[in-house]
Amino acid sequence: MLFKDIIGHHTIKQNLIRTAQSGRISHAQLFIGPSGNGKLALAIAYAQYISCPNKTETDSCGECASCKKYQKLIHPDLHFVFPVVKTTKLKNPVSDDFSKEWREYLSSSNYHKLNDWIDSIGTGKLQGSIYTRESQEIIRKLSMKTYEAEYKVMVIWMVEMLNISSANKLLKIIEEPPPKTIFLMVSETPDKLLKTILSRTQMIQTQKINNQELSQALIANYDISQDEAVSITRLANGSYLKAETVLKSGHGDMRNFELFSQLMRLSYGTKIIELNAWVGEMVALGREKQKVFLIYALGLLRDNFMLNLVPDKQSQLVFLAQKELEFSQKFATFIHKKNIKFLNNELTKAYQHIERNGSDKIILLDMALKIVKLLRIKND
Ligand SMILES: [Zn+2]
Repeated sequence: MLFKDIIGHHTIKQNLIRTAQSGRISHAQLFIGPSGNGKLALAIAYAQYISCPNKTETDSCGECASCKKYQKLIHPDLHFVFPVVKTTKLKNPVSDDFSKEWREYLSSSNYHKLNDWIDSIGTGKLQGSIYTRESQEIIRKLSMKTYEAEYKVMVIWMVEMLNISSANKLLKIIEEPPPKTIFLMVSETPDKLLKTILSRTQMIQTQKINNQELSQALIANYDISQDEAVSITRLANGSYLKAETVLKSGHGDMRNFELFSQLMRLSYGTKIIELNAWVGEMVALGREKQKVFLIYALGLLRDNFMLNLVPDKQSQLVFLAQKELEFSQKFATFIHKKNIKFLNNELTKAYQHIERNGSDKIILLDMALKIVKLLRIKND
């Protein structure tokens, strides 16, 4: 992975390069930022840069033995930890059980999303996790000698998914790290991390990809016009993956929109039997997709509230695909200051309960019935 293949993040790249050039590399660093912005790729490019003996002022050489191994993700001093799923064969899985799939996944794109990764190794009904046995693996790998490079690098993707006992073990290792070891951790929700881990790492806050750079990259990578690129970029919200989804599907991830509009229409019409069927459809999708839907729905509700609040400023405040806009122009009137907070609470609560493995059927039906009531509240 070369820095030049990752869109944007110029200042961060410069700072990382400077630490490697000056030999002042912090042993525990945490890349945080939104999904799909390339932060995992940044961490890997940084590791490759540290390891490359022929590095330039701006990037790894891309030609040396170390770079070639890095490009195939097979360098013996590069280790990965990431969320995995239990299968019928693997009751107690660790990252290495999925190393082949992981390399394929990383090679397929420079932009990553937990949901896509879990879908590629699971059945779609499973949630990923970093299980307890992984901490023993981390200790085992770090106790090995360095094979070829000066440093051993351990990249931990979605470090917030470590369970509590593993997180405590990781903390101990970070406090007293083996020599010549670098931890590059990547997180999208650092507030879920142990405070003690946060306080012992150097944080690298990455941002959404800047709109102009994102649309330029889309024009370079796909056969689309400037206008198309701009309109896709407005929907992508700084995520290259979202931009690709929007591009490939015409108007963004319309499945979530269909589910959202069904839920709101049925709730408004108090169609309880149909709502029950809607819940059945959601249950069949599995938990990861239910969570994605809820995040989508929270976003669209917020946009509808804004649309209702300041209709004349809609183009500056909300980013909607054509179908979403057509629906929202009628629906926005039902989302206002008297119910937005409660609607938000209900969807957030459903998300949290699904994440904690509650019965999705009960959680979603309960949520739908609450929405029926909340849409009846008048804004006077
Ligand atoms: Zn090199």
